[in-house]
Amino acid sequence: MLPDEAGHFGPYGGAYVPETLMTALQEIGEVYAEARKDPEYEKQLKWHLKEFAGRPTELYFAERLTKELGGAKIYFKREDLLHTGAHKINNVIGQALLALRMGKKRIIAETGAGQHGIATAAACAKFGLECVIYMGRVDMERQALNVYRMRLCGAKVVPVDAGQKTLKEAVSEAMRDWVTNVRSTHYILGSALGSHPYPMMVRDFHRVIGEEAKEQILEREGRLPDELCACVGGGSNAIGLFYDFLEDKSVRMVGVEAGGHGIQQGEHAARFQGGKLGVLQGTKTYVLQDPDGQIELTHSVSAGLDYAAIGPEHAYYRDEGRIDYTYATDEDVLEAFQKCSQTEGIIPALESSHAIAYALKRAPEMPKDSILLVNLSGRGDKDVQQAARILGEGEL
Ligand SMILES: *Cc1c(COP(=O)(O)O)cnc(C)c1O
Repeated sequence: MLPDEAGHFGPYGGAYVPETLMTALQEIGEVYAEARKDPEYEKQLKWHLKEFAGRPTELYFAERLTKELGGAKIYFKREDLLHTGAHKINNVIGQALLALRMGKKRIIAETGAGQHGIATAAACAKFGLECVIYMGRVDMERQALNVYRMRLCGAKVVPVDAGQKTLKEAVSEAMRDWVTNVRSTHYILGSALGSHPYPMMVRDFHRVIGEEAKEQILEREGRLPDELCACVGGGSNAIGLFYDFLEDKSVRMVGVEAGGHGIQQGEHAARFQGGKLGVLQGTKTYVLQDPDGQIELTHSVSAGLDYAAIGPEHAYYRDEGRIDYTYATDEDVLEAFQKCSQTEGIIPALESSHAIAYALKRAPEMPKDSILLVNLSGRGDKDVQQAARILGEGEL
């Protein structure tokens, strides 16, 4: 399947990087291809996903939520139960093992919400790798708890003060470091974004989500779900869930982007609502930009979805009509965040609450015997302080 040799998903994807990085990308591509054919690598990956990360994750029937909404049966794929609190660890373990294979002892990464940062810091501690995390200063303030968790695991967290001081600037800083230290350093990119082979590789490391979900729902219900939904930042948890269902034409798939304060310029991060074809940080895809091609400001209550570009593979499946995309506003997301906590006793990440917000609207429109499977990409512990502030509970 896709991408082609040069990393294209139709017109999207590819590799737009300085010459110095082309060799590194090629090396990663080769080592990756080799590793995936090596039973020893697969065995190790599987083992660490089980022993360190906690796979397989449960498929959970949200019984009270289902009853209350009175429509489709709602299931949660519980990626929130994974070590360090989100799906991110699937990809991080895979790439850390590649770094060891390449003999690279220094790891760099960028992080928005801090979830990719903490997953990377934890894996580096476990595998004895040096770890440097780039993070926008605004995100560091929004996610102070995760910053401390990273430091506890021995990572160096470097604040980034350029521009909007969020994820985009952190990625640029990580790229700059990589160009300088490429011989000793592997860059663990945190989503299905960036230059080839990252979008493909990150997707593959998350495919386990969909593989497990499919097996679990077949065992539980004896049939495929009618619909899948997942939040889409760069798009890794979504493509991870969707990928193994792409050929199952009866299964509808919906990606939910960050609608922020609503679809006005600078107030959201929904790339398919007003974004245009462009190149950002190594890949060609839908990008929020002004008519001069300047990257637009973005906003979302969830740092993990607050990014101006979407993974190139999503742009492809949107063109194909295979995956539908919508958005949820901050307001709907905060409501879903509380609703899920109160009805199921599960506090979801604000990112994942985008998918739940969609499910709250969608399930009642679906027949009672139908199945809606929601990817619960992460847990909300990191978000409770921010939520309390916004919901008027004051500082915790
Ligand atoms: C990082 C993150 C996301 C967004 O990233 P994707 O690559 O789009 O999955 C979503 N949910 C959680 C919990 C995250 O930590």
